Amino acid sequence: MNEKMKSVFEKIKNVFTGGETSHENTQEGKEAMKNVLKKIKEYKKIIIFRHFRPDGDAVGSTKGLAAILKLTYPDKEIYLQNDDYSEYLAFLGGEDAPLPDEAFQDALGIVLDTATQERISCKRFALCKELVKIDHHIPVQDYGVYQWVEEERSSTCEMIAAFYEAFQNELKIDSEAATYIYTGMVTDSGRFRFRSVSGDTMRLAGLMLDQGIDVDVIYAHLYMKDFNASKFEAYAHKKMKMTENGVVSLYVTKGMKKKFNLSNEEASASVSYMDSIKNSLIWIAFIENGDGSIRVRLRSRFVEVSSLAERYHGGGHACACGATVYSKKEAKALLLEADELLKNYKANNEGWL
Ligand code: AMP
Repeated sequence: MNEKMKSVFEKIKNVFTGGETSHENTQEGKEAMKNVLKKIKEYKKIIIFRHFRPDGDAVGSTKGLAAILKLTYPDKEIYLQNDDYSEYLAFLGGEDAPLPDEAFQDALGIVLDTATQERISCKRFALCKELVKIDHHIPVQDYGVYQWVEEERSSTCEMIAAFYEAFQNELKIDSEAATYIYTGMVTDSGRFRFRSVSGDTMRLAGLMLDQGIDVDVIYAHLYMKDFNASKFEAYAHKKMKMTENGVVSLYVTKGMKKKFNLSNEEASASVSYMDSIKNSLIWIAFIENGDGSIRVRLRSRFVEVSSLAERYHGGGHACACGATVYSKKEAKALLLEADELLKNYKANNEGWL
């Protein structure tokens, strides 16, 4: 790589990390892990939570941690309490039936992959005696007696793999637990494609592979889609639009969902159809919900879009986040802001593709 390209890449990297690169294996992270383990040991009952509308990381990290704790501490009661699920992750198996309210009172709650309390799927998390937060999102809200947050990690699953690695003399794992964790690492890192992937990510993924998991089966489940969803993909490619400065967007109406017989998840997956278009560094899917609100999924290369999401009732990661708007007018306003953002980015940066 020549000197000019090196400096361009360095500039881009600093936009993402503020120049910090030594994120993994920090002393702070190690201390936080120790505190989490200490709390786990204190409690006989542990209830694990995640965000609603779960992705592979939310399901993988919760089920992975639960499996490790069950194997390691057969005398403890370990539960997963969540009020919704995502159909496309059904291959990872289900979760526990709802517990009565009283069961929460003497439990330690561990919330994974969820930046704010309002996004926790099971609202009864508040009944737990104490809470611990483990997350890799931009920290917008503090909650819990202990918080272990490493926003530079590529996934919460990577954090759970690191947790296992740090205490592997003490903790037990098997191929089932490793499958959950590996799946979340794969999905949240865009198949190990995003810049958040570090050497540590790959080493920890290797540690999970060493447990004897079947990657062929995992990828088959992640990629296979229904025939109608495949047809919708072709239709979506025709319908997507590009703004003057290169924001690509797709608006998925309730009518389209009906026509192609799409689940909300299938309709929402359309954001990934727009991810490799030249000159487009921001791409956005708007998906009409049944209740009049519109789900917004924002993705970008290099350009930070989470502040934009935050202005529209959302948040998430710098380049992968979500928001909600309540009318087509508001959707249009968000799109205009995204276009302006991209215009400024292109005017002030070199080296984007
Ligand atoms: P999604 O497009 O729903 O896959 O979201 C991308 C990332 O942003 C995920 O890590 C979500 O947890 C996070 N996210 C999505 N919507 C919101 C929101 N309204 N508030 C905070 N974080 C969000």
